[in-house]
Parts: sequence; structure tokens; C-alpha cells
Amino acid sequence: SPVFTLLPAWSAHEGAERVRTLFEATFGAPATGVWSAPGRVNLIGEHTDYNGGLCLPIALEHRCYAALSRRTDTLVRLVSAQGDGEVWEIDLADVSPGAVTGWGAYVAGVAWALREAGHDVTGFEGAVDSCVPFGAGLSSSASLEAAFAIAIDDIAGLGLGADDAGRSTLVAACVRAENEIAGAATGGMDQAASLRARDGYALALDCLDGSVHHEPFDPAGYELLVIDTRAPHELNDGQYASRRATCDAAAEVLGVATLREWLDAGTDLETSLAAALGRLVDDTTRRRVRHVLTEIDRTRAAFAAMQAGDWGTFGLLMDASHASLRDDYEVTVRELDLAVEAARTAGAIGARMTGGGFGGSAIALVPAGTSAAVATAVVGAFVAAGLREPAFLTSRAAGPAA
Ligand code: ADP
Ligand code: MG
Repeated sequence: SPVFTLLPAWSAHEGAERVRTLFEATFGAPATGVWSAPGRVNLIGEHTDYNGGLCLPIALEHRCYAALSRRTDTLVRLVSAQGDGEVWEIDLADVSPGAVTGWGAYVAGVAWALREAGHDVTGFEGAVDSCVPFGAGLSSSASLEAAFAIAIDDIAGLGLGADDAGRSTLVAACVRAENEIAGAATGGMDQAASLRARDGYALALDCLDGSVHHEPFDPAGYELLVIDTRAPHELNDGQYASRRATCDAAAEVLGVATLREWLDAGTDLETSLAAALGRLVDDTTRRRVRHVLTEIDRTRAAFAAMQAGDWGTFGLLMDASHASLRDDYEVTVRELDLAVEAARTAGAIGARMTGGGFGGSAIALVPAGTSAAVATAVVGAFVAAGLREPAFLTSRAAGPAA
């Protein structure tokens, strides 16, 4: 028997069956349809999205499933297999920033944002079931928003899901839902990954202008192991917002809208970094800015390495990214540092935390066929340190919300 917990992705059939059954048991009639959206891991480019930077996520095979039926009024009624069994309810007329509590805020927020953007969106009944681990830094929140965004788009006949431009509009609605209604100050990477990824490709996302490039993700000779550290992860507790505020304040001192623009105004990283550090006095701010500027540069280098199939270089950049997030951005925790260290010791050619940090998940690029051995070694390291056992996922680069 395996000595580690592997979290499998459901088949599309299993996900649809589960959520249809929950819908019917709760609302007493079949749903109009089932939609789903993936969680994600970011390969590199962390805490860069809200700085106008670059990131490189892939969509996971693990998805959030939503069954929906349209209502003629503006009531939203929801149930989640991951919830408390109660139906969560709100009238869209009562949705506004600060007015909504509970997990339904992510969903009602999407409908609210689409209405704010002028789209004709009514209420609905919805059921949710998900195999994206909850609060593990793998974007269960964005997958929830994206599953409903694509579902609402479909039942309201908006047609936004049909092309990348329309999907960018859905991304914007999801970001507004998360920032303004759910009250989590996250950037736009997670929602873009869930709605704009392509099956088999990594999503090279430029957060300054929202443009994307799809690059095949097929690390020949290697595979991706995801380690859910199960360390408590809470983005709403102010740490994420405080990092974001520090970056905004630094950009203001430097006279740019985003740190990305500061980086690109110089001839190279060294020049831009030295010039920024020369103008910023606070030591903490200097380290935060150093992370952002070096991370955007590393993401460019990693993208080039990916195009060249140079996974050795890619792995070294993952390692450097983790060190920067640990030492300069200070968003890792003991469990993330240990997961990364143990994976490397067990043969990973690169490992780093992924997502916002403060708990959550790490990723490791390991030689093909060694995921089980590396996972076993990581579990051993956690047990030896007296920490709760992590869980593991593997995934290829999967497809977007549909
Ligand atoms: P992450 O996105 O990394 O998983 P977040 O803290 O951003 O973690 O989002 C987790 C929150 O999203 C949960 O606390 C819950 O409110 C909501 N959520 C995500 N998936 C579901 C689900 N299947 N059912 C109900 N709520 C969910
Ligand atoms: Mg989230």
C-alpha cells in the first residue's frame, strides 16, 4: 500500500455525475447543465501578477464542477459538497462590496461583476463539487469563480466563452468578485489560468497588458509533482494585502504605475534593480522590490529555457525563485521550505513554493517515474520534523473552463 496520500483528479464523467446528483437532491429538479474549471499551479513568476509582471501557470487536471439552472428572478441559491450542507442564498440586488459573507461570495460576486459590466444576468440555482484541494494554494477559489463564470456565460447566452477576448472579460469579472466581494486582494493569474489555459500548454501571461502566449509544456524526461503541505493557508488575513500595498507604495516612490514598468525602463535587471534600491530607503521594501524585479527576470529566463527544452536551467530558476520568496518576499513557511528541500534531496532538479504562499503547495520537477519515491522521501522528512503529512498530486497541463 502507498505510504503517501495521492489526490486523484476526477474524470469529467465522475465530476458531472457527482454535481448533478447533489443539484437534484438539493433543488428537486435536474440541472440545465454542468460546467467545470481547473485549479492551477504556477511554474514560476510568483507575486508578479499585481505588479504587472509575468507568470507561467498550467491548469491542473483537478477541476471544480458546477451544475446550474437559470432563474427568472435575481435570487442565487447555492449548495456545495465541500460546504456545510446548507443552501447559501442571496439576492443579486443585495450584492455589493463588504455586504456578502461566506463561500457564496465568490459565486455571487461573479454574477454581480458581470451585471456591473452591463450584461443581462439573472439569478440561478447552483451546486458545486470539486477535487481541487480547498485552500491548498492550487486556486480552488479561482476554479469556483471560473466554473460559474463559464456557466453563467452559457445560460445567459453572453457568448464570452467562445474566444480568448471574451474569456478575458470573464477573467476580469472573476477578479472583481474575488477582490471586491470575497475580499481577497489576489492578482489575476489564477483566474487567467483557469479560463485562458490550453490543454497541453503552459500559459505565459503578461499581466501588464493581459496578453498570453501558449507554450507546449512537455518536460521530456521529467514530471511535475505537486506537494500540498497542508499547512494552514489563509490569504484573507492581511499578509497578501500587505505585500501588495508595499509594492504599490514602492511603485509610487519610483514614479511608475507598476514595478514591471520600472524594470523595463532600465537597460537590464542589474541597472533597474540598483536604481530602485538607490531610491528606496526602507529595508523591507527594498527586499520586496528585489524579489519582484528578479522574479520577473527569472520568469523570462524560465520561459526561454522551456522553449529550448533546457529543463536543467528551468529547475535552477525554480530553486532561485523559492529562495527569493523565502528570503526577500518572506511568504514561505517551514513546511514549504522543508517540502522543497526534501524534494531536491530526493532528486528533484528544481522545486519551489507555488501560489501565494503562507502555507499551501510546492512543486517539484522530478525525473520521470520518480514521483512516488520523491513523495515518500518528502513524507519521511515531514514525519521526522513532527509535521502533519503532506498530500500529493500529479498533473499534466490540462484544459480551461468549459
Ligand atoms: P485556494 O484558492 O488556494 O484554494 P483560497 O483561500 O483562495 O484558497 O480559497 C478557498 C476558499 O474558496 C474557501 O474558503 C471557500 O470559501 C471557497 N471555495 C473554494 N472551493 C469551494 C467549494 N468547492 N465549495 C465551497 N467553497 C469553495
Ligand atoms: Mg485562491
